[in-house]
Amino acid sequence: MSNATWRARGDKVFIGTYSRFPAAMVRGSGCRLWDADGREYLDFLAGIAVCSLGHCHPRVTEAICRQAGSLLHVSNLFHTQPQIELAELLVANSFADRVFMCNSGAEANEAAIKLARIHSGEGRYEVISLAGSFHGRTLATVAATGQPRFHQGFEPLPRGFVHAEFGDPATIEALITPQTCAILCEPLQGESGVRPLEPDYLRAIRTLCDRHGLLLIFDEVQTGLGRTGTLFAHEQLGVTPDIMTLAKALGNGLPIGAMLTTERIAASLTVGTHASTFGGNPVAAAAAVEVLKIMLADGFMESVREKSALFIEKLRTVADRYPHLATGVRGRGLLLGLILTDRGIEHGPDIVQQMFDEGALINFAGNRVLRFVPPLIVDTAEIDLLIDKLCRVLDRLV
Ligand SMILES: *Cc1c(COP(=O)(O)O)cnc(C)c1O
Repeated sequence: MSNATWRARGDKVFIGTYSRFPAAMVRGSGCRLWDADGREYLDFLAGIAVCSLGHCHPRVTEAICRQAGSLLHVSNLFHTQPQIELAELLVANSFADRVFMCNSGAEANEAAIKLARIHSGEGRYEVISLAGSFHGRTLATVAATGQPRFHQGFEPLPRGFVHAEFGDPATIEALITPQTCAILCEPLQGESGVRPLEPDYLRAIRTLCDRHGLLLIFDEVQTGLGRTGTLFAHEQLGVTPDIMTLAKALGNGLPIGAMLTTERIAASLTVGTHASTFGGNPVAAAAAVEVLKIMLADGFMESVREKSALFIEKLRTVADRYPHLATGVRGRGLLLGLILTDRGIEHGPDIVQQMFDEGALINFAGNRVLRFVPPLIVDTAEIDLLIDKLCRVLDRLV
């Protein structure tokens, strides 16, 4: 069956929440995808920063098949080996001592918000997050998300969320009241345009938390698991949170999320206070264990940083060559954005579409940035190929 046929069938039955590329994907390997018409794509989207080890990594696929052959699901009424191994790996390689497992980024943030509230006690429920942030689509996480366009039509939103302007610690401090329990932020804002928070700014936020007795929650759903060149983005920034959330790349495509915290704070969530039927499902957890083992092996993060440096240099060359369309590059690791000029923004959707026609997948983050989030296993030839295709598209726009 062709792309067109699949698309027509899908259009008849889905609720229209997504604007999809006109392709039905049928197969993936490494940084490549193939659609129902047999067309090949160079994938610099990686399922929205999920397939960090590339599509169908043989070791992850093997771990999934092995686990699926022995046990799919028993619920959290029981212990299972993959879930314990995963929690041990997360704890051994982060600031955290304790892990709660769930199935997505929004759920991990929900758990973090619930923990912050119950830990802080009666009357302290308010979470400060940042303008431009993205924390998920459930009612609480959409309320935490600092972008009004995600709120429209869904009011009244849950109470207890306020948003500070991006970039100035004083605007956060002005929002702190006796009701505040936590500050929630991404170390680098992904969805709203690949905007890094500077180390000084993050340190100032940490200081505010310490001074006012607030919990610092880092949403590393997109930045975590090697995406920025270290296992967690905050490691490079010299700031440690009290709570961290993970999801996207954790299962390399299987749905799994996690909320991590310290021994002292974790003690506030006791039996019956929070739960998830599927959370830490053995198959998803087995995939995540393999993901972590691969990422923690010698040389993996170094290679991400090397490819990042090369990719940044090439994107800078692109910005220099098309100054009427692009002004520069931002981001960290392999979470990079090409910042567009006003004229570039007008062409933005067109650039994404023409890249698709060229067989390359990228997308638009926020309103002024072309986002590049290739699998972390991307090689230099694939980066060169992506840049060639991008230049071909931009040449046509001159
Ligand atoms: C994607 C994302 C989420 C939401 O994750 P879902 O799995 O879609 O619920 C939350 N926070 C950040 C920073 C994200 O990038």
